[in-house]
Amino acid sequence: MNPQATREEYLYFSLPEKLIFYVLALMSLFYMGRQVYDRVKLWQTGRPTGPIREGTQYWMPTKAGVLKWWSKVLPMILLQKKVRSSRPTSGAPMHLMMFYGFGALFIATTLLGINTYSPYKFHKGAYYLIYETTFDSLGLLLLFGLVWAIVRRLRTKAPISQDKWDMGVLWLLLGITLNGYLLEAARIAADPHAWDTWSWVGYAIAQPLGHFGVLTYKVAWWFHVALVLGFFCIIPKLRIKHILLAIFSAAGSPDTPMGKLRTITMTEVEETELIGVKHAKDYSRWHLMSLDACMECGRCTEVCPAWNVGKVLNPKKIVQDLIGAMETGAEVVASLTQEALMQCTTCNACVEACPVLIRHVDIIVDARRNIVSEGGLSGSAALVLRQTASTGNAWGATGNREDWMKDLSIPLARDGVSFEYLFWVGCAGATDPGSVKTTKAVADLLQKAGVSFACLGNEESCTGDPARRLGEEFLFQEKAMENASVFERYKVKKIVTACPHCFNSLKNEYSDFNVSIDVFHHTQLLQQLVSKGSLLAATPEKGSVVMHDPCYLGRVNDEQEAPRALVEGMIDPQFSGIKTRCCGAGGGRMWMEEAPNERPANARIEQLLATGAKTIALGCPFCKIMLDAGVKQVAGDDEIRLLDLAEMLQEAN
Ligand code: SF4
Ligand code: SF4
Repeated sequence: MNPQATREEYLYFSLPEKLIFYVLALMSLFYMGRQVYDRVKLWQTGRPTGPIREGTQYWMPTKAGVLKWWSKVLPMILLQKKVRSSRPTSGAPMHLMMFYGFGALFIATTLLGINTYSPYKFHKGAYYLIYETTFDSLGLLLLFGLVWAIVRRLRTKAPISQDKWDMGVLWLLLGITLNGYLLEAARIAADPHAWDTWSWVGYAIAQPLGHFGVLTYKVAWWFHVALVLGFFCIIPKLRIKHILLAIFSAAGSPDTPMGKLRTITMTEVEETELIGVKHAKDYSRWHLMSLDACMECGRCTEVCPAWNVGKVLNPKKIVQDLIGAMETGAEVVASLTQEALMQCTTCNACVEACPVLIRHVDIIVDARRNIVSEGGLSGSAALVLRQTASTGNAWGATGNREDWMKDLSIPLARDGVSFEYLFWVGCAGATDPGSVKTTKAVADLLQKAGVSFACLGNEESCTGDPARRLGEEFLFQEKAMENASVFERYKVKKIVTACPHCFNSLKNEYSDFNVSIDVFHHTQLLQQLVSKGSLLAATPEKGSVVMHDPCYLGRVNDEQEAPRALVEGMIDPQFSGIKTRCCGAGGGRMWMEEAPNERPANARIEQLLATGAKTIALGCPFCKIMLDAGVKQVAGDDEIRLLDLAEMLQEAN
């Protein structure tokens, strides 16, 4: 390696030319900075609470928070975890090439800048040669990624942005990258050295193009400067800004579990005279900033069960419309529309898919809270709330939570029995005939395995999950406090439930009401019993059973293993585990009428039956109700069986 190897900065440039460059660069950076400042001021109008640091800052970590900051930025941004997990054959590799190619050229330019403007001159010898070869090669990633993106955008049917500015930015970046190589080639031709072969791409281009003069080199240099400075000026206006904002969005994203909604306090209501969100400024600063990180990739829309059956709800549009409301000050519900907001099942598929960690469900539920507080809810959604308030049961059934126990010997907490687990039955488990079968199967299995448990019977009340997700926050809080006092009375330490919605609420949301209890989904406890040998796993014929992961178990609470430990050889449908597709019941949608062609359950049944399996394994009473109707509407096949995993295990024990 030649120790003399290096290259001169501002080759052949006079002082006046350099001064012109500095003035242009400062103007462009000032223009960019001004736009960033205006945007930050807009985010600052939001609620002054940040997930990382209370107060006005919401993306910079405290000293203690640096590790946490990196624990999010590293996997989500630097390792592109979410991008890699979706569209593995098209969008993901393209984005990875652009991301790492762009990142490499950013590092290369930064190193060059340090060498030029600091007293440390390290851009020489072996370092220089390795630098040239490495970044010449990595720049090709950006080049190929950009070509791929342009071709894909011209041909795609995916719900990605068709904005002509987005296409323009791709062409601009392609121009900068290509011109960067041409500039290198022109420099090599104008000032040749023996070590130029290390800059192998520029060197290769320089050969067939013959001898470039100094003038050609200068024209290419100024053209490059014009493109780059123009790029700086437009970054804050276009969605390309996500390359920076994604970092802040990931860094400041809430630490709360996906299934936990924000608890509103009465103090907050008194201070703001508001429940939920009326204007964009009522969201937190982090939420407002995260909207601007949206890259309009459409991943959220692709997975939305409502959008996929032709409803108006489009999570990407929710984000874009909210950006509009933030800029204009328009009311959120007017911008997003009540129809779209009420179609959400709160399945969190969009949240899971979003590469910049936008929390669509927070946004939607906060807007719903305002609709409810202003009396804007009517029809079956309003009826569910009235029923929950008056009977403690979302179905409106009164005093029947012990009917399923008739002829069974089920211990009740009020009888003073000692128990390890409280078996939380839930409204569906006590009321819906199909779900009652699951409840009985769980109780039977617990008794067979010798588990010490008790039920609350008529002392049990709705967890408040449907009310909270419909937007009736204070009905949820009333139910949570009521149930918390019952848990306190019986000194409950562990809960097991067959309903993933109750499971999620008790596990993730009741902690705000002084409830500190270990909560298990029934499949988790049954998995322990199978692994201890207290129960036998079911062994159906291979390929005869397909597993449908409930959203609030498989995705929201990231539990995919326990159900699969109970029944051997189950097959997975298209979309399973964390990527499961919603049956359409969550967010209070269970109680709302829908035309058959607008039922997410019918679309899901088609995916499940496409596997050829005749038995569908379930772990949620809501899924059972919705998919049962779906089977009748879509398949009309009497041989199709919908069984909770507990029922399948019961058949085997
Ligand atoms: S919200 Fe997230 S997933 Fe949806 S388009 Fe924007 S970046 Fe993509
Ligand atoms: S939570 Fe589910 S239903 Fe609601 S917008 Fe997101 S993907 Fe659509």
